[in-house]
Amino acid sequence: MAEQFDIRLDSLAGAADPLTERGLVISAAVPDENTFYIETFGCQMNAHDSEKVMGVLLGRGYRQVETIDAAKLVLYNTCSIREKAAQKVFSRLGAFRKGSGPEKIIGVLGCVAQQEGEEIFERSPWVRLVCGSASYSKLPDLISELEAGNRRVMGLDTDTDATFETEFTRRDNPFRAYLTIIEGCDKACSYCVVPHTRGPERSRASAAILVEVRRLADAGYSEIQLLGQTVNSYKDPSPRRMTFAELLVAVAAVPGIRRVRFTTSHPRDFGRDIVEAIDGVPEICNHVHLPVQSGSTRILREMLRTYTREEYLEKIAMIREARRSISITSDIIVGFPGETEEDLEDTLSLLDAVQYDGIFAFQYSPRPNTAAQHMPGAIPEEEKARRLARVIDHQREIQLARNESLVGKTFEALVDGESRRAGQWSGRCSSNRVLNFTSPRTDLLGEYVQVQVSRAGPNSLVGEHLI
Ligand code: SAM
Ligand code: SF4
Repeated sequence: MAEQFDIRLDSLAGAADPLTERGLVISAAVPDENTFYIETFGCQMNAHDSEKVMGVLLGRGYRQVETIDAAKLVLYNTCSIREKAAQKVFSRLGAFRKGSGPEKIIGVLGCVAQQEGEEIFERSPWVRLVCGSASYSKLPDLISELEAGNRRVMGLDTDTDATFETEFTRRDNPFRAYLTIIEGCDKACSYCVVPHTRGPERSRASAAILVEVRRLADAGYSEIQLLGQTVNSYKDPSPRRMTFAELLVAVAAVPGIRRVRFTTSHPRDFGRDIVEAIDGVPEICNHVHLPVQSGSTRILREMLRTYTREEYLEKIAMIREARRSISITSDIIVGFPGETEEDLEDTLSLLDAVQYDGIFAFQYSPRPNTAAQHMPGAIPEEEKARRLARVIDHQREIQLARNESLVGKTFEALVDGESRRAGQWSGRCSSNRVLNFTSPRTDLLGEYVQVQVSRAGPNSLVGEHLI
């Protein structure tokens, strides 16, 4: 659920981590009380959880600082989706070994916290707060306990039906506001740790979501991204019983909202009503992230994905029948236990059949508390890397051809970045493509502009601002 249209080079994900490489040195300076530093790993939902954690702390009078040195409270919001992500946090924690500087309050939040629980205290006794991603509603109480001097506090429930509501959320992106509408996951994909770390599905009431969207629009946000591990499995718990497609339309109708995005959609719950909503409402972005994971029905069955290759392709056909051209992106896992060369060929041929506009591709990583962890037929790491490279190379060609077909066309871009070179800007189209462009204007951040595409690469478009 990070930014789309990158082919993630997962083989690079284990490359040296600059912080660990340098060796984190904690200086002798004593930080001010009520200061915090937070580092976030993983997906967009984690990034947004961190925004809410910041809101909770700022609301209690804490001040955010940019360095660990300057912070009294150091928080890591962790990810455990793949092993490398989970390992990172332990290398961070190692730097706070007793005697390595003035005592700080170290907290581990998120999926590693939920997964490892009390083990974290055993492995790193200097950690004082462990709060799992399914227990954030308890975070304010846990912080009160820390403030009262409790040595160790912990929140690890997953049987909660609460969602993480905050009075104030500190938002990092000035143009696009993220909004979680459903937490947890009730699916049971055999490779995935999320149902264990984030607990069961809990949806927010539609009225509360719409109140927040109106507040965001009043605060100047024009783009809303609705988030959920399976965002389209949304079930309005209020008597209104708004469907996900109705919610999309209602969010888009809020005055001031120009773009509505949503991620991640699960193929099983992806219905025609969502395509009709996109078709009928221009504010709903013409982009669907619909992870397939594998092109082989045999592997999909082993993954417990609940659809076959053919059923998935029917969903794609339904999206392609829309009047608007809708871009489609996906997640792919290679090297799942027992994956044969033929299964890999099925994935490559599915890329051809779908013609994705972007994918995230990953090497399978065995995770604790998952059904696939001990499945026979483990694929060696170097073979997984080879398969990943094949998928990435194949998809790069597809993306390049798709992007080249857009040369000469004009798209609206929301400008969200400025290059160091004068007159160079970066924005995103409704389809979520990155569009880098030149303009004589010098004040474009946050504006919606028309850009004509002049060149295309596999991961982005290049163009000129039409004035
Ligand atoms: N809920 C979303 C869905 O069903 O597609 C995705 C959630 S997950 C945070 C994002 C992606 O990580 C998944 O789509 C999958 O491709 C990948 N992933 C999850 N578990 C993995 C594992 N054990 N090894 C490698 N990749 C994994
Ligand atoms: Fe994980 Fe599957 Fe749930 Fe997505 S749908 S979060 S991959 S269990």
